[in-house]
Amino acid sequence: MGTNTAVDRVFNFSAGPAVLPVPVLEEAQRDLLCLPGCGASILEISHRSKQFIAILEDAEQRLRDLLAIPPNYRVLFLQGGSRLQFSMNLMRGSGKAAEFVLTGSWSNYAIQEAKREGQTRVLWDGRETNYDRLPNLDELPYGDSAYVHLTSNETIQGVQFANDPNLSESVFVADMSSDFMHRPVDVSRYGMIYACAQKNAGPAGVTVVIVRDDLLERSDDSLPGYMNYQAHNEANSLYNTPPTFGIYFVGLVAKWLQEDVGGLANMHRRNRDKAQLLYDVLDESPDFYQGHARASDRSLMNVTFRLPSDELTKSFVHEAASHQLESLEGHRSVGGIRASIYNAMPIEGVEALRDLMVDFRNRHAN
Ligand SMILES: *Cc1c(COP(=O)(O)O)cnc(C)c1O
Repeated sequence: MGTNTAVDRVFNFSAGPAVLPVPVLEEAQRDLLCLPGCGASILEISHRSKQFIAILEDAEQRLRDLLAIPPNYRVLFLQGGSRLQFSMNLMRGSGKAAEFVLTGSWSNYAIQEAKREGQTRVLWDGRETNYDRLPNLDELPYGDSAYVHLTSNETIQGVQFANDPNLSESVFVADMSSDFMHRPVDVSRYGMIYACAQKNAGPAGVTVVIVRDDLLERSDDSLPGYMNYQAHNEANSLYNTPPTFGIYFVGLVAKWLQEDVGGLANMHRRNRDKAQLLYDVLDESPDFYQGHARASDRSLMNVTFRLPSDELTKSFVHEAASHQLESLEGHRSVGGIRASIYNAMPIEGVEALRDLMVDFRNRHAN
């Protein structure tokens, strides 16, 4: 079971789709031909079969337990990725603007879509310093808005809010695509949380939406059917054929977080330990490795930094690949290196990257 796979697998630092837990891949592989008690594979059974309904309910329950989701929140499993949630329907008919905290590439994509839907207001924009820092969420000039949108982790720039917003007057909507379930969050601080699975929770194709009951009433009749959250809620995520394999897989990842990792507080500790290994190297050698994010706003998920030259960056990526450390090129808009070290990245992978960083610096620094 899995020994060959484990030997052949590289340490995959891809930003997404990204590394998944080996025990979860092994379980999915083991059960792919025949799901226990099912007589067929997860890919072959009806989304209305009692077997699939049990899988759906199990996945939801595990998310509820892990994140302590209060009973007045619904959990939806949708398609269309996080991009489709950018067109969210919480504004239509409200007569109010949506407010945005612009912290990097993804929040900027989100506001572009919201502009098609209604009025938007920018509360804060980090453009001036190339999105290397975050504002204090308690100090923004909030107004009377349909919702306030924020991106909990900017996957491209590598900046991340360490805490949940603390204000009850505004409805916060958080894009948690790239740090979903990386730490315990206080769901009650948000009106809605959404996350595509392929960064931290499963395969591409399924997006989790956690939305407070009362906000579902904002689903306007003029919306396209698929964009109507109330329609999905009334159909228990079976409005149309849902991404069955993705839902199954997210359930397995949640089970791994519960049973192998021991919950999100443990996961958070692991994530902090992993990220610290890399940030320590940046702090030890600021003349050689220049971190993109300001120290106080650094992401535990995506570690972004530059080397002194493009040549050295290329040579670093090349050497890393020869050590089975893959997909470290930074996003084209930031350059340099981006090491995505999501939940499923083992500490051994981060240690190997740290060792290479130290060794590479010792050979190339003046
Ligand atoms: C990847 C990502 C998205 C886009 O997700 P899709 O599933 O490709 O639509 C949105 N927001 C953040 C923060 C991301 O990391």
